[in-house]
Amino acid sequence: MSKTILIIDDSENVREQIAQELQSAALFERILQAGDGIEAFKLLLSMPIDLIICDLEMPRIDGFKLLGMITGREELRDIPVIMLTGHGNRELKIRLLGQGASDYVTKPFDAGELIARVKVQLKIKNLQDELKRSNDLLRQLSITDPLTLLYNRRYTTDMLGKELQRAERKGSHLSLVMIDIDYFKRVNDEYGHLIGDQILVAIAGLSRIGLRSYDFAARYGGEEFVLILPETALEDALMIAERLRARVEMHLFTGPLKRLKITVSMGVATYPTDFIGTVEDLIREADEALYRAKKAGRNLVYSMNRQ
Ligand code: GH3
Ligand code: MG
Ligand code: MG
Ligand code: MG
Repeated sequence: MSKTILIIDDSENVREQIAQELQSAALFERILQAGDGIEAFKLLLSMPIDLIICDLEMPRIDGFKLLGMITGREELRDIPVIMLTGHGNRELKIRLLGQGASDYVTKPFDAGELIARVKVQLKIKNLQDELKRSNDLLRQLSITDPLTLLYNRRYTTDMLGKELQRAERKGSHLSLVMIDIDYFKRVNDEYGHLIGDQILVAIAGLSRIGLRSYDFAARYGGEEFVLILPETALEDALMIAERLRARVEMHLFTGPLKRLKITVSMGVATYPTDFIGTVEDLIREADEALYRAKKAGRNLVYSMNRQ
């Protein structure tokens, strides 16, 4: 991974000296310089930077102030900052470390020491980045269904809770569409589970078509899917569900499945109504409507329509 360092010092001479040492050490692909705090902050906000060397004494925004600005921004907080101090002052150094500096080097600096300290911080930053990447990956895995790559049931229930709260706050609607493939056991029996799995992947793909960026489709169980549709009233949710029903019915499978016809049944429910005030209510009503769609013959979209 290409690395970038930012040197901040009001003295061009000092900046150049440090840049030269870093150049010889060949630790960074990009060595950026800034002559004051404002210029530095602009650079920090405009591109990813891996390490900062920052002078303490600068006109207007000094090192302390800039350190505060960096640690105050979530996206900048993890960048290690090595402070350049002109003082031998022990309290000052302790204060710097307490306020978020990763290390300090006293001016006039010793080149060997500076590079050694940069290497230590770079190593920590690399480990930290790696940890963050694997955490992100783990989080993605924990909310994703491995077969269809849709969100999984756990994420669905988490999101339903959040979206319902949001709908309550904003006084808007939240619709849930429960989808169950019709006679899927027969399909498995006739074609085998592997082909069955391929069909699940295809239905997952069809269910995602046409969704807005804040809607989402998830795999709720074996051959059950859901659509979560924020800011969508029942009428519109029914229309979206009906479009999906027709899309699945019309879908032409290929290869050995050429003659296969798959249909889905759906139950739709919308928050808020007299009967739906919680996530449990929403799921129960959508489930109940789905059950009725099945009973009424399948390949249908139902809502409870209790009002
Ligand atoms: P209905 O129209 O009433 O929904 O009939 P159905 O046969 O689809 O009945 P039901 O929904 O109860 O059956 C679910 C079946 O889905 C059971 C199982 O064989 C199949 N299934 C569940 N998960 C998977 C999976 O991950 N892969 C495959 N291939 N099949 C699955
Ligand atoms: Mg200075
Ligand atoms: Mg089922
Ligand atoms: Mg089924």
